[in-house]
Amino acid sequence: MSTASRRRPDEDAEVIVVGAGPAGATVATYLARAGVDVLVLEKTTFPRDKVCGDGLTPRGVKQLIDLGIDTREEAGWVHSRGLRILAGEHTIELDWPELSNYPPYGVSRTRHDFDELLARTAERAGARLQERTAVTEAITEERTGRVVGVRGKFGPDKEPVAYRAPLVLACDGVSARLALSVGIDKLDNRPMGVAVRRYYKSPKHDDPMIEGHLELWDRRDPDDPRLLPGYGWAFPLGDGTVNVGLGILSTSKAFRNTDYRALMRSWLDSTPQEWGFREENAIGRIGGAGLPMGFNRTPHYRNGLLLLGDAGGMVSPFNGEGISAAMESAQLAAECVVQALARPEGPSRERALQGYPRALSEEMGGYYRLGNLFAKAIGNPKVMRASTKYGLRIKSLLPLIYKGMSGCYQTRGGDAVDRLITTASRLTPSA
Ligand SMILES: Cc1cc2nc3c(=O)[nH]c(=O)nc-3n(C[C@H](O)[C@H](O)[C@H](O)COP(=O)(O)OP(=O)(O)OC[C@H]3O[C@@H](n4cnc5c(N)ncnc54)[C@H](O)[C@@H]3O)c2cc1C
Repeated sequence: MSTASRRRPDEDAEVIVVGAGPAGATVATYLARAGVDVLVLEKTTFPRDKVCGDGLTPRGVKQLIDLGIDTREEAGWVHSRGLRILAGEHTIELDWPELSNYPPYGVSRTRHDFDELLARTAERAGARLQERTAVTEAITEERTGRVVGVRGKFGPDKEPVAYRAPLVLACDGVSARLALSVGIDKLDNRPMGVAVRRYYKSPKHDDPMIEGHLELWDRRDPDDPRLLPGYGWAFPLGDGTVNVGLGILSTSKAFRNTDYRALMRSWLDSTPQEWGFREENAIGRIGGAGLPMGFNRTPHYRNGLLLLGDAGGMVSPFNGEGISAAMESAQLAAECVVQALARPEGPSRERALQGYPRALSEEMGGYYRLGNLFAKAIGNPKVMRASTKYGLRIKSLLPLIYKGMSGCYQTRGGDAVDRLITTASRLTPSA
């Protein structure tokens, strides 16, 4: 069946993808490669920046490899060999684990380049990318409540536009405007994060390890300093600069009333002078955004609308990584959408689409439930303190902490640590 013949005359595409970040560009690539006619609506124009740490663990690199992207250093990626963890007087270096499912290296690349690369990959696959189109809401069928398209504004004059398709994929990031327009709200019992970052010229730009700093102190009350649930990072970019930032979880009392920019400055002032994380080496301003975690927006499928990536609250509560989950959700969504479109409209197609939230839940649900409990626990400063003070001293615990927090473990086969994380994820009850 040719794709053109599957489109009704009043439809503009078989699938509309809203947002061309990692989730949107990835799903558009897979769908276009499967012969689906995809229209991607993106409010910005590429290349553009996105506030991010610019780092991928091996779990994220796997997604790039699956897409067929050349991840060698020659192709512009900065490779990391592993993670250096710093907590008080402790420093530990751990190479990325050797696993069957993920490569043994992570990568960094600015989102300025990264997102354009993914968007162009989607275009090359055949997706139609329309930039400068800010979607404002879903078009729903009055009788059924089914999403049948989107409305938005195009170009500098904000010309009203509307597009129709039998399926719409919300990949519009943390703002989740599309999901909100059909009443899919945030779940307040799931953790959120806030993260800020800035670029610095630094001799650490070619460090082969990425760095996690586990001790972020809230010293507003000098008599009662509190260890915050979160961490600071330094991700080398190989071009003379380092992406430096920090993220804090909503599970601490300090979450709402913290001045994140001030916290970042006070943390960086406490780092060694020679690293260069000082005002005179800073490039640009401190940028920040929310981190929607642990599936904090569901259902991930309802009435013709699928939520992917940040729009579906898919940032890991363990480490704040969101690109890999956005791309993983894209892979799962594409598979279900391709199957759905090959069936007649009605119950059979719906059954295929319901496979998407089920697949997400199977792939990430248990791990995220475990992460939500972890986020809640370390929101207590005493637990956070004990974890950094003792956790890193117990050598036998390190692989568990490392694999668990980075999400780099094998769900099939693997060693005792992999099996422990997989089993714990499976057994963790819903919140
Ligand atoms: C400070 C910070 C540091 C981070 N560091 C890391 C990190 O190092 N590694 C990591 O894996 N994750 C990190 N994250 C998380 C990561 O940035 C996100 O999880 C990831 O970008 C999610 O991808 P996405 O495609 O779902 O959404 P996004 O990347 O937000 O993409 C959404 C796209 O939709 C477009 N859009 C939005 N609204 C509309 C609309 N109404 N109409 C049309 N288009 C629209 C946007 O312009 C954008 O292109 C960090 C986040 C922050 C805030």
